Amino acid sequence: MPLPNCPKCSSEYTYEDRDLLVCPECGHEWTAHSDSLESEEAKVVKDANGNILSDGDSITVIKDLKVKGSSSVIKIGTKVKNIRLIDGDHDIDCRIDGFGAMKLKSEFVKKI
Ligand SMILES: [Zn+2]
Repeated sequence: MPLPNCPKCSSEYTYEDRDLLVCPECGHEWTAHSDSLESEEAKVVKDANGNILSDGDSITVIKDLKVKGSSSVIKIGTKVKNIRLIDGDHDIDCRIDGFGAMKLKSEFVKKI
């Protein structure tokens, strides 16, 4: 891996000093890995087939799902539009016709 040019003066005579990169021409010092530190990895939510889900996707339910606190069941094959990804055990927030606001697990859905 060649060292990057100085971001201030574009000099190519940069050198490494421990964790720092140093430019001998303008004296600028910076860290080589600042990019990877700044960009925190976004959480990836995948459906039952391993397809990556994103906000606004449409999915179908691949398993009969009991609705907590009621006797109703969301049937296999139920289509859900415009999902929203959230943090937590149930990582999909959505509205299902006849049920209202629901939270689903991504492992029990399939992207359409
Ligand atoms: Zn420089």
